[in-house]
Amino acid sequence: MNDLQLDEFKRDENAAMVLLVDDQAMIGEAVRRGLSNEENIDFHFCSDPHQAIAHAIRIKPTVILQDLVMPGLDGLSLVREYRNHPATRDIPIIVLSTKEDPMIKSAAFAAGANDYLVKLPDNIELVARIRYHSRSYMMLLQRDAAYRALRVSQQQLLDTNLVLQRLMNSDGLTGLSNRRHFDEYLELEWRRAMRDQSQLSLLMIDVDYFKSYNDNYGHLEGDEALRKVATAIREACSRPSDLPARYGGEEFALVLPGTSPGGARLMAEKLRQSVVALKIPHTTPDGGESLTISIGVSTFTPQQGGDSRQLISAADKGLYLAKHNGRNRVGVE
Ligand code: GH3
Ligand code: MG
Ligand code: MG
Repeated sequence: MNDLQLDEFKRDENAAMVLLVDDQAMIGEAVRRGLSNEENIDFHFCSDPHQAIAHAIRIKPTVILQDLVMPGLDGLSLVREYRNHPATRDIPIIVLSTKEDPMIKSAAFAAGANDYLVKLPDNIELVARIRYHSRSYMMLLQRDAAYRALRVSQQQLLDTNLVLQRLMNSDGLTGLSNRRHFDEYLELEWRRAMRDQSQLSLLMIDVDYFKSYNDNYGHLEGDEALRKVATAIREACSRPSDLPARYGGEEFALVLPGTSPGGARLMAEKLRQSVVALKIPHTTPDGGESLTISIGVSTFTPQQGGDSRQLISAADKGLYLAKHNGRNRVGVE
């Protein structure tokens, strides 16, 4: 906050907007005169009680001075009305009564008044009470505004954290999970599968002859091809618990919790076919037509003392077999 804003802030806090609701114009004049020399106090007079709420909504008083006895509308009912209306609910109300009567006083406070003065009050006392109530109301408004701002910035922080979390977990090129997140997730699912004694499957996926793809078409085209393969892998996932990841370079991994060897193999075969269907031109090796992938599949029901690396190592062996047997195929150890 700079000095100018600070001044504005202080002035606002000390400024009062008074609304007097009284059927007698004489009272209105007397109060107006009493406040006329006061700095920072604005005064409005409303002689028709039926217009009081509308008037208050329009001028947004920081204090309402409310007469109790008016023709056509009882002052106490009006106090209750202020309290029930969202726009006037918290505005301090000083009731102006003709009598110093404990019964009336008690009824006024019960209806929601904040203060009680017998009219016409001494000017010094009236000003002091107006300033006191107005100031506490302004502080209430400022506090509420500060809380609202705090809630907004807390929400923004939560949103930002979510975005950061997503960024931290994802691979920049393909948008799939990165290696760090893959490692975390596999470990988590390994332990869950051990508890549930359920089957956990893993696909290790490697692009065939990718070095020569880069050599032939350039690294940028290579990147584009990796993105397309990544999309095919993402689209192969059918359950929320399936996690596609970029394992590194042109290798990808797919974690499949609760999936049997048959189910994992079927998914791998479908995925292999879907990459063929992409028809990404690639002539290596001689006579080849399009870019393909090889996939190794493994499935474990984790046992005590086991390690999630068993799953990776078994899938790697499957992948080796697939490569060894001619690529563009699914291998299982
Ligand atoms: P194989 O069929 O046996 O898998 O042969 P390969 O050529 O695919 O395997 P190799 O491991 O020899 O080559 C992998 C290539 O992938 C080499 C590397 O430049 C390329 N590569 C790794 N990461 C990226 C990347 O982010 N972008 C691009 N364009 N190329 C990448
Ligand atoms: Mg490789
Ligand atoms: Mg490769």
